[in-house]
Order: sequence, then C-alpha cells, then structure tokens
Amino acid sequence: MSRPSSAGPSTSKPCGKQQQQQQLTPSLAAAAAPAAAAAAPASNNAAAAATISAAGAASSGVPAAATVLSSPGGGDGSGGPVSPQHHELTSLFECPVCFDYVLPPILQCQAGHLVCNQCRQKLSCCPTCRGSLTPSIRNLAMEKVASAVLFPCKYATTGCSLTLHHTEKPEHEDICEFRPYSCPCPGASCKWQGSLEAVMSHLMHAHKSITTLQGEDIVFLATDINLPGAVDWVMMQSCFGHHFMLVLEKQEKYEGHQQFFAIVLLIGTRKQAENFAYRLELNGNRRRLTWEATPRSIHDGVAAAILNSDCLVFDTAIAHLFADNGNLGINVTISTCCP
Ligand SMILES: [Zn+2]
Ligand SMILES: [Zn+2]
Ligand SMILES: [Zn+2]
Ligand SMILES: [Zn+2]
Repeated sequence: MSRPSSAGPSTSKPCGKQQQQQQLTPSLAAAAAPAAAAAAPASNNAAAAATISAAGAASSGVPAAATVLSSPGGGDGSGGPVSPQHHELTSLFECPVCFDYVLPPILQCQAGHLVCNQCRQKLSCCPTCRGSLTPSIRNLAMEKVASAVLFPCKYATTGCSLTLHHTEKPEHEDICEFRPYSCPCPGASCKWQGSLEAVMSHLMHAHKSITTLQGEDIVFLATDINLPGAVDWVMMQSCFGHHFMLVLEKQEKYEGHQQFFAIVLLIGTRKQAENFAYRLELNGNRRRLTWEATPRSIHDGVAAAILNSDCLVFDTAIAHLFADNGNLGINVTISTCCP
C-alpha cells in the first residue's frame, strides 16, 4: 500500500503566501487553495513534545508489521471464556510479588516457591520463605504445564478476552487493542496514558500549542527546518469526522547524517486507519516528491514507523531543494478508501 514515487518537473509552487510564522488560525483567504498553517518546531512550544532525544525515546520494540492475532470479543482462535478450573490453574503461576505470571524459564527457591524472573533479579531471598534463591533450581514440570495452559492477556481487566500460549503473550500485548493509548506527541516528555476517547481532550489541554486545520487537503508548513539536533514539528488535521496528527521529525539515525521523516497518524484504531489513505507531497522548484500510504494508528505510534522508514523519508539536501527561507511546506491530502 505504500508506494513512494517521484515525478518530474512541476510548475506549481507550494504555498507562496505563508510567510508569517505561527499562524494560529487556518487561513481561509483563498477559497480554492488549501489551508495552510505553520508548525513551529516543538522546541519553541513549551507544551509540545520534547525535541531532544527523539531517537532514544519510547523507541519501542513494537514490531512494525505486527500481525493481528485476533479480533475482540474472543471466540475465534485461542480466545474464549475462561473456566473456573482453568483460572485455578493459571493462578498457580501468579508471582507473589508482582502478581504477573511466572513464565518459563521457571526457577524456584530451595523449598520450591516460584517467583517471576523480573522480580527474582531484584530479590536476595525467596519472598515466601526467605530461603536462598541460589543456586537457581529450574522447575521443568511447571514449565511443561505452562506450555499447556492458556494465559489471559495482560489487558484482561480493560476488556481483552483473549487467552494465549505464553510464547504468544508478549507479541499480542504489544498490539492488543485494549492496551492503553499513550500520548501520540513524538518525543518522550509526555507520559500520559488513557483511552482512545480521552486522547483528543488530552491533546487539547496538555498540548494547546498544536495547530489544527480543517479539510482533507492542507499545507503543513514546518518552520526553521535548519535547527540543529533532533526536532519535531506537529500539527493536527481534521476531516471525514476524524482527527489526524501530522508529524515531521528531524533525526540523526546514522552518525552525522540528518534525515527528515514525515508521517500521518490517525487518532483512532488500526482498523479505522485502514479506511483512509494519505499523500504527502513536496512540491516546488520544478520538482516533486510524493509518498502515499495508509495512516498509522496512534496506538502504534511513530517510533517504529521511523525506525523502519515506513514514512516519507528525505535528507537535508532534498529538504533544501524544496525549502523556502528555511521553511518547508508539505502538502497533505487525506482520502477515504474501501479496504
Ligand atoms: Zn514478579
Ligand atoms: Zn521459598
Ligand atoms: Zn489483549
Ligand atoms: Zn501528551
């Protein structure tokens, strides 16, 4: 679905008129022309996400092309209602310290008590009997039982009804749709988490400086693209009854080689995102560079997309071909599509 393309010379110029920076209201001046707003680098916005260390930030082990293991509502696959007997069985695997499950490799104290491997690393003695945890004694019988038991998803309390083999649990939990949403602003500064329904009000209260434009065809104007270091530009686009977040990130993925990454995220689920397509276009000086793809759900975030270059990627030399006085206009078009 993602196919970058570049086309030859084009005569139309991008956004000639957005000279003034920090336009906070959409410009409705020219009826036919797409609206444009300037997105100042986040470094200038107190409330916006951090600009430093975008690289290390939350850069996640979320697999980019993770497969969806199941739909909600259980039923299919390994999911389904959990019987009381089954619950008794899984409760035998509960860690007495963190109440998460003790999963293979399963180690026990000398008296046979179990504790999960994360907790074990922080403990000097068995939390149940105070006995020694060393030498490590492996419990192969419990490991075999663990392999035969289906464990509930970590997000069972927020609605996931899936039960899974312990080896499938981490992969599913990374993409579980009942996992809380994190703040979609790039950078690591905002630690907010909550439901999808609460994301927009969080953005409106905690990140007031982010500009929103209405319409399916707009210009995302990033100002001061020559600022050194890792910088994020963020704005919102609202159309088709949904909110989209546009992100331009400047990052040094390889030593001494700065790159720009531009992407559109839907404030919505991955399934909802599949109903849309977006196009990013750099246009001007008789050149055009275009990227088309399905928007990413904010549930997946930008970090993995950037890591895999699954977005519009260009280097500083290309940015300068299209920039005007250090400002870069990106044409953003969102459309609906039938999956
Ligand atoms: Zn534990
Ligand atoms: Zn013990
Ligand atoms: Zn789940
Ligand atoms: Zn936030």
